[in-house]
Amino acid sequence: MDKAAEKRVLDSVPKGVFIAGEWRDASGGATFDIEDPATQETLCAVANGTPADAIAALDAASAAQAEWAATPPRDRGEFLRRTFQLMNDRADDLALLMTLEMGKPLAEAKGEVTYGAEFFRWFSEEAVRIDGRWSMNPSGAGRLLTMKQPVGPCLLITPWNFPIAMGTRKIGPAVAAGCTMVVKPAQQTPLSMLMLAQIMKEAGLPAGVLNVVPTTKASDVTGPLFDDERLRKVSFTGSTPVGKKLMEQAAKHVLRVSMELGGNAPYLVFADADLDAAVEQAVIAKMRNIGESCVAANRFHVHESVADEFAARLAQRLGSMKVGRGTEEGVQVGPLIDAVQRSKVAELVDDAVGKGAKVLIGGEPVGDRGYFYAPTVLGGISDDATLLREEIFGPVAPVKTFSTEEEAVRAANASEFGLVAYVFTSDIKRALRVVEALEVGMVGLNRGLVSNPAAEFGGVKESGVGREGGREGIDEYLSTKYVAVDL
Ligand code: NAP
Repeated sequence: MDKAAEKRVLDSVPKGVFIAGEWRDASGGATFDIEDPATQETLCAVANGTPADAIAALDAASAAQAEWAATPPRDRGEFLRRTFQLMNDRADDLALLMTLEMGKPLAEAKGEVTYGAEFFRWFSEEAVRIDGRWSMNPSGAGRLLTMKQPVGPCLLITPWNFPIAMGTRKIGPAVAAGCTMVVKPAQQTPLSMLMLAQIMKEAGLPAGVLNVVPTTKASDVTGPLFDDERLRKVSFTGSTPVGKKLMEQAAKHVLRVSMELGGNAPYLVFADADLDAAVEQAVIAKMRNIGESCVAANRFHVHESVADEFAARLAQRLGSMKVGRGTEEGVQVGPLIDAVQRSKVAELVDDAVGKGAKVLIGGEPVGDRGYFYAPTVLGGISDDATLLREEIFGPVAPVKTFSTEEEAVRAANASEFGLVAYVFTSDIKRALRVVEALEVGMVGLNRGLVSNPAAEFGGVKESGVGREGGREGIDEYLSTKYVAVDL
């Protein structure tokens, strides 16, 4: 990738806080550096938002709320459709920017831009379908009228692993529903969100509807917003421990809450599965986004009769993947986000190996610059290996055996998380039995990819509350008002 293109894209990003439709310096003027995880070099500096900026952002969101709620739904939809188009027109630049700050290979970054933009297209179509109900009181006396209204100003907090899509999955339905918002992107990857805000401005978004405050002091900046009764909702994507803290803070003014939290996805391969498909899809379920995905297959539970073959074939596939800076031709595996994440992955592998696991491929960091870790397959996993319980968030596939369907389901459900599970079997009865028994919000049935703007994304148990995308996604931003009508 040529350096001139990188410089041009980095130069094109506004680096301020985005409040009331304007780009500003942070109050106090502080900035922070954004690092390229593949080179550990500084890419650029961005305004370091403060609590005062957060309150200014909420002032703007609050001031814009009534007019935005009254804007014709078709206009809100058309705005989303224009943004969808602009994102696609600029997909190459957005993808390059994302690869620079987050590390994922360019092709995957482009895929995320397309996927992220689709939420705007989907919710442009949903904006005009917000409806209510008129019915007769069961007793016949009077009528029942229900209507849906925007919940009001929202705080949207996003993680670094999908810097655009985790934002558009919230911004799209909030805009469609008629809510205004303050967005706090992850400190490692604010550039993609800043670029998106600029695109939304160009698409004609009224001032104050969207405000973006990048910062290195997340809790200092969001804390005052939870204390302010003008805020009516928080939607968060990130780790479960932070989600729990935010739910406590949200209790103060009883905010509407949407939580997309951590996962620990089991990937079940039964003896009757199409093994070619199971291996092929495992590469996607494990290696998409360098394994740094809440829906990444975290543990492979494979029937004992096919486990060795499955593991050997998966090791062969992962071992042939090209590791490198995501901007380079043919690279399939980029760096992890930072040193902390790489150490965590290494510790989980070392722990498993210390407890008897066998390294079939990989098992160590790569290179002396950037946070690379080799695609890894481990066999012979013991029951007490920590990576069976914790989210790995890296390119590591532990393969564990089972002998009965009951044992497989029990192992799959042995987690406080319940985001997604993958099931590979060619027996339809087994498929439906197992799908029904799994304690998760989503299942990939003979598929390693579930994310789709037209489908409800979300988890049960400690993986979260609420759904993003699909028919239900917009409901997270709407309140129901019931009117008892006397005729
Ligand atoms: P994280 O540490 O929880 O951070 C997520 C966001 O919350 C970041 O913007 C972060 O800001 C902010 N934050 C952290 N502490 C906060 C606090 N006390 N108050 C307010 N905001 C706070 O998670 P992460 O490491 O970025 O992301 C990885 C996690 O996200 C994984 O567990 C993954 O499974 C989960 N995830 C879930 C989904 C889903 O849809 N279920 C999707 C993607 C990721 P800073 O950047 O400044 O720390």
